[in-house]
Amino acid sequence: MKLSNSYFYTLRENVKDEDSNSGNLLARAGFVKKTSSGVYMYLPLGLRVSKNIQKIIREEMVKAGSQEVLMPALIPEDIYVASGRRQGFGNSMFTLKDRFDKPFCLGPTHEELFAIAAGMKIKSYKDMPFNLFQFETKFRDEPRPRYGLIRVREFIMKDAYSFDKDEEGLNHSYQLMFDAYKRSFDRMKLNYTIVKADTGIMGGLLSEEFQALSPIGEDTIVKCDSCDFSSNLEVAEVISHPVEEEKKTLEKVETPNCKSIEEVCDFLKMPYSKSVKALLMNVDGELVIFFIRGDRELNETKALKLLQGMELNFANDELIATSNAVPGFCGPINLSGCKIVVDREVLKMRNFIVGANEVNYHYINANPEDFKYDVCGDIVNIQEGDTCPICGGKIYFEKGIEVGNTFKLGTKYSKAMNLQYLDINNKLQDVWMGSYGIGIGRCMAAIAEQNYDEKGLIWPVDIAPYKVAIVVINMRDEEQVKAGNELYDRLNALGLDPILDDRNERAGVKFNDMELIGIPLRITIGKALADHKVEVKLRTAQENELVDLDDLETRIKELLAEAK
Ligand SMILES: [Zn+2]
Repeated sequence: MKLSNSYFYTLRENVKDEDSNSGNLLARAGFVKKTSSGVYMYLPLGLRVSKNIQKIIREEMVKAGSQEVLMPALIPEDIYVASGRRQGFGNSMFTLKDRFDKPFCLGPTHEELFAIAAGMKIKSYKDMPFNLFQFETKFRDEPRPRYGLIRVREFIMKDAYSFDKDEEGLNHSYQLMFDAYKRSFDRMKLNYTIVKADTGIMGGLLSEEFQALSPIGEDTIVKCDSCDFSSNLEVAEVISHPVEEEKKTLEKVETPNCKSIEEVCDFLKMPYSKSVKALLMNVDGELVIFFIRGDRELNETKALKLLQGMELNFANDELIATSNAVPGFCGPINLSGCKIVVDREVLKMRNFIVGANEVNYHYINANPEDFKYDVCGDIVNIQEGDTCPICGGKIYFEKGIEVGNTFKLGTKYSKAMNLQYLDINNKLQDVWMGSYGIGIGRCMAAIAEQNYDEKGLIWPVDIAPYKVAIVVINMRDEEQVKAGNELYDRLNALGLDPILDDRNERAGVKFNDMELIGIPLRITIGKALADHKVEVKLRTAQENELVDLDDLETRIKELLAEAK
């Protein structure tokens, strides 16, 4: 690409409406441009990076035996109704109608269509296994798009689906994809970790997430300081220990105007961990009151799973009035008219503070024997400093950007979509499915978040839009211009596809631009040309080095290999 006659621009100033370093740098460097909240155009440099990421993934998918297809984005809505997932998507599904008033949607994910495609082939157990993948634009109406390309409403995703006759086959197919994912993210030079996750709206048997580590990540990754335990916050099991204490006598005390558990504990001069707080919730229309230790947070995923519920919201006054609970002073003792759910840690506590279901009163020295409950389980978030559920070590947190996920779906979709086969005994059986996703824009953003400095982006060699840039210092110097063009042709002949910065700009502007857009290797044609030499510099190096033009190809190869 010769810059003098190419589409290329950079911005000097930070972009106002970007709230992440990657979003800001990608916009300033002219890789992407926001058109509306969570929707972006990919400009030439941005598209090249996206294609390089896709190339790596495509190669690994093919190596793992997957075949590429392309599904439509425009999908009849009733396909998701048939699979039972329409409700789960709620408002996040973009819907529209055709001229005959038939409801359509813009596909948020494609399990259903792949199940239909698979049904064209699968008749008997001999027709499996196989695996299909695509690069396709997905649409999700996110309530709060943010962080540049990380949380968006329209994005390219690589999704793959495996089809097997039994669980053993699925396990094998899953492992092939899992390994292909690891190779893909390794080649992208991402610093990532793999965590167990909730199967959520996708349903199924097992879900794992590939999380690129970054302080702006929206996911909390739970890790252990002494073993390799790694988990999503949603599913990390909390291990609690019995409090060794003599039981004291239950006592009702006045706590005037102390409504929050913090106010109560401060008033009684007790630590928050010596209290049990109430969360008055509406679970699928029923009043459920959760009791957890005062310094804990309710984990909605665990709570819903325990109750096999669909939706959890705060209860309104009307619902609360069906019980004798007094908001702000709610406790489990003599509580009625609702479902009572206690965190299992509460049963190990001694002599704690709870509400007395009476305005301005709490109990002190409450114990588990003082009340009844309906359900008990692990319903709180793990915290830093907690005990590792595997080895007993200490838990700490990191932040991650979810760049990929893998699901063992089992037979959930095949049941819903009637995807069946005849087994060896001529009996109908459900097909076992797996689904596997990678967000391309998220990979791009995560790589950018992990690789930049005050000058701009620093792309890994295989991701960079161009590997090499040739900068001609003085466009009025005919020798320099001639050498620049000759070198450009030479590198093109080598298949290096370089940038030639032949703009009539000051050298400083050219250097700044090449650094901002993150080209791994820069060759500068300047005064040293008189000695048959050029300056060469890696994006990550401090100094230029002088290289004889005759040795240039060798040195470029060495440096690019070094930068990998
Ligand atoms: Zn551990």
